[in-house]
Order: sequence, then C-alpha cells, then structure tokens
Amino acid sequence: MNQSSNEESIRSKVGSPAVIRSDAEWRSRLSDLEYRVLRKSGTEAPFTGEYTDTETTGVYRCRACDAELFRSAEKFHSHCGWPSFYAPLAKDTVRYIKDKSLFGPTRVEVRCASCDSHLGHVFSGEGYNTPTDQRYCINSVCLTLEETSADQA
Ligand SMILES: [Zn+2]
Repeated sequence: MNQSSNEESIRSKVGSPAVIRSDAEWRSRLSDLEYRVLRKSGTEAPFTGEYTDTETTGVYRCRACDAELFRSAEKFHSHCGWPSFYAPLAKDTVRYIKDKSLFGPTRVEVRCASCDSHLGHVFSGEGYNTPTDQRYCINSVCLTLEETSADQA
C-alpha cells in the first residue's frame, strides 16, 4: 500500500471534487457536529448557528476544505433560522444534488464543489425580495467567515 494514497489528492478535471479525503481523515479533521453535517448531510438545529444573523462583511469559506463559497454581499435575513444567501460567490463554487430523502417536493442539496461536502439546500420562488428569489439555506457549521474590511468588499 502506497503511503501517499491517504494524502490529499488534487484533481483538475471539472466536475470532480478537488479535495479527496477518506472518511477517517474527515472524522479526525472535523468536530462531531461538523462531520455529521458536512460529511453525513446532517442539519444543525435552527437559530443555533453562529452565522445565522451575522452581517459582518467578508467571505464565507468551506469549513472542510477552505474553498470560498459565499459572500456577505449576497447574504440576507430570511428568518428561517440558518444563514441564507441568494447566490453563491460564483457559479462553480457549489454543486447541486436532487435530494429525495424526504417525502413531498424534491429538495435540492447544495454541496461544496471542491470537497463534495454537504452545505445545505437551495429553494426557489419563495417570494423573498432578492435579485434571484433563491434561498441558499446553509448550515453555519459548514462555513468559516473570513472578515474583510469594507473597502476590500
Ligand atoms: Zn469544501
């Protein structure tokens, strides 16, 4: 067995996650809650996340792989109990999976395009007064806010 097979491997192919780690590696790198949400598609309890009402200017990075995912500029108050964005930082920073785990309407799961970790879900057409009428409902525990000063934003 090659020792380096457990190391982070970088792929450039579009559509494949760039950061690949084994389940055991993720488990050791992440807290219990981070692991449960990011790697097992869990959900933090509403109104408990550290970024739910945050208005600080900055960039939200993936807690698992550090990729830039969302900006404070697209964050809005949805009052749903989780941080909400009306758009990702760029089109290719996240990927989408149809989530059929619940009965009723199919939900669209949002994952980090770089490491394929679960982030939350995206909902459309709810009537929020935002440019896209979309709500990226993202778990705080999946994000790390990197503050930027106002003139950088
Ligand atoms: Zn990631």
